[in-house]
Amino acid sequence: LTAVDRHAPAYASRSVQEQRLWQRHLEIARFGAIAPAGVNRQALTAEDMAARAALVRWARARGFSICTDHIGNLFITLEGTEPALAPVLTGSHLDTQPRGGHFDGVFGVLAAFEVLEAFADLGIKMPRSVQAVIWTNEEGVRFAPGLMGSGVYSGALSLDQMLRVRDADGVSVAEALQSLSAIVTQSESGTQPGSPPHAYLEAHIEQGPILESQGAVVGIVTGIQGIRLYEVCVSGEEGHAGTVPASARRDALRASIHLADQLYLSLDDPSDTLRFTIGRFSVEPGGRSTIPAAVQFNIDLRHPLTTVLDDAEQRLMAAVANAANGRCSVAIQRVLARDPTLFDANIGRMIEKSAHRNKFAAMSLPSGAGHDAMMFPPLCPTGMIFIPCKGGVSHSVREAATADHMAAGTKVLADVIQQLASA
Ligand SMILES: [Zn+2]
Repeated sequence: LTAVDRHAPAYASRSVQEQRLWQRHLEIARFGAIAPAGVNRQALTAEDMAARAALVRWARARGFSICTDHIGNLFITLEGTEPALAPVLTGSHLDTQPRGGHFDGVFGVLAAFEVLEAFADLGIKMPRSVQAVIWTNEEGVRFAPGLMGSGVYSGALSLDQMLRVRDADGVSVAEALQSLSAIVTQSESGTQPGSPPHAYLEAHIEQGPILESQGAVVGIVTGIQGIRLYEVCVSGEEGHAGTVPASARRDALRASIHLADQLYLSLDDPSDTLRFTIGRFSVEPGGRSTIPAAVQFNIDLRHPLTTVLDDAEQRLMAAVANAANGRCSVAIQRVLARDPTLFDANIGRMIEKSAHRNKFAAMSLPSGAGHDAMMFPPLCPTGMIFIPCKGGVSHSVREAATADHMAAGTKVLADVIQQLASA
């Protein structure tokens, strides 16, 4: 050790190993691999279990303790010196979309495991235990809803209801969970996570283009934007395309296109933060020579602030009311409203400081997508660290992240977890 090293604080980030982390990504990518470079590893399938088993093997080899809970969340624990203190939790998910990539969720799990290894390598002892967690069924593909494991853990979802959820083949979550016992033995799974954690921190690829386009390596996630979903139904009258004159028509498609155009205009956001999407548009009865009688379309509205969502909803309703004064009737229904999530400002500052100390370009941004972390603000101080992904692409076999960006995000994760577990 040099004199400088001896007097510097023993930040765990210095022990994070880029190659070890990268190698583990390659190994996990084998489970459910699909061509050309993707993964189909849906929740509680044989592929998911094989990936979990790999983590369990690595954890046993390091002497970390392992336990599961009743929804199959898997906890790998580096024990603290004071068992009575609430643990610091960090992790993500291993399940993927049907044509997913190597990094969504996986990065957060392997970064958490790398942090445990970094602490163990340095022999750092902290008062609080640190748990790397693998949440069950984040994606919600095989079993709906998603965020199932973190939702049950946090109390937002009912365990009994979730155990009864069935996949398309009629297999229930409870039945699918039975194969977990082959990975974690009964004696190991004795500890049931109970009281709220001291803090929750999740590392994840951004799944958007902002960090890359700004040249930033670390994203300090301020929160997760809220989402509101609407269904719109425009009703007119069907008729013969050749005989009914325009003056007598009640054309539901024409009215819908006009309404959609008004919506795009009135919900345009100069700051480009509001997300407004019409993703589905169906025309009835759909005959080539029939005047459309009815159109159904959906609206997906997202923003990090409730006040902005409220304002956008007012403009949306005004446009609908205006359209309903025409020849067709218009009905709108809000089918989902999920409030924005705000992460802990103090954890945000800790992320920023660590990024600065490690000389990683960092910036604050909200998350465009939902994550397990959104379940935690009611329980404990919560934060997220983003790293860039190529072109902002995710939920795709083209998803890509670099080894040095993953190491950077993991170093910051290590520093912040170390601080949280020492307090
Ligand atoms: Zn994810």
